[in-house]
Amino acid sequence: ATPTSIMVGTGRAAELGVLFRQGEALQSLRNARIVALDKTGTLTLGKPTLTDFVVADGFSEAEVLRLVASVESRSEHPIAEAIVGAARSRGLAVASPERFEALPGFGVSAMVEGRRVEVGADRFMVRIGIPATAFATTAARLGAEGKSPLYAAIDGKLAAIVAVADPLKPSTREAVAALHALGLRVAMVTGDNRRTAEAIARQVGIDEVVAEVLPEAKVETVRRLRGEHGPIAFVGDGINDAPALAEADIGLAIGTGTDIAIESADVVLMSGDLRGVANAIGLSQATIRNIK
Ligand code: ADP
Ligand code: MG
Repeated sequence: ATPTSIMVGTGRAAELGVLFRQGEALQSLRNARIVALDKTGTLTLGKPTLTDFVVADGFSEAEVLRLVASVESRSEHPIAEAIVGAARSRGLAVASPERFEALPGFGVSAMVEGRRVEVGADRFMVRIGIPATAFATTAARLGAEGKSPLYAAIDGKLAAIVAVADPLKPSTREAVAALHALGLRVAMVTGDNRRTAEAIARQVGIDEVVAEVLPEAKVETVRRLRGEHGPIAFVGDGINDAPALAEADIGLAIGTGTDIAIESADVVLMSGDLRGVANAIGLSQATIRNIK
């Protein structure tokens, strides 16, 4: 493409809220065969709320929520905000935890008032030797509803299953349809539970789900999808997404996302509206046509 057509293309993109950090991306984007999207904060608003709280026999809901929220008060994960928010709105006194530890992709743990509190995914419970099989039926139902199930253990005993739900962005469905109309395959890549991810994918028409991906495995997933389908665009917002954004043929970051994601991307979707992905690809095609 000529410098002029690139200027025109990037200018038009800017009007649509799509910022090209690299002029080159405007040319390469049209080659993409597959678009892979992070779930939390990309397909969804990234503002989950607590929807379900089921305690095991012998545990009090208010007490378990207070202890869990105390641990989460030290985490920066969107899940943590949902849980701390729920505890505060119920007037529970969130305590300051000791020996807080976060295990990315698994969960968090700490001591709260002398009690050991561990909160996280199914695989976190497996890892610490507290299988959550007692809640298997509840977990399956929550996942089918598109909610993310989490487990809490107190002093080594399974205490509760908790669910958070993160609403889809209003335009996500339309954005996926627009990518399909351009002939692209659409995949979701997420650290979340498989059932939850599949339920959400069904709601928006996503073709392929790669779930329960550990943070460091997102890059590998991008490589695998490229090997199977061809040039890949990756869309994400989080710290975890930065390596995948850099690895993809074109990385697109959500403008309201983390700085490191934006710095690793070629393109920024300023408002986070995913319809910008198809718009950007359409502009890339038009820019190349103009110079032929
Ligand atoms: P994602 O951003 O796609 O949810 P992560 O790798 O951040 O992926 O997290 C994967 C899973 O690990 C979460 O879905 C959740 O089950 C668990 N997890 C991570 N951080 C926390 C936390 N602060 N509290 C509870 N669970 C967590
Ligand atoms: Mg995200």
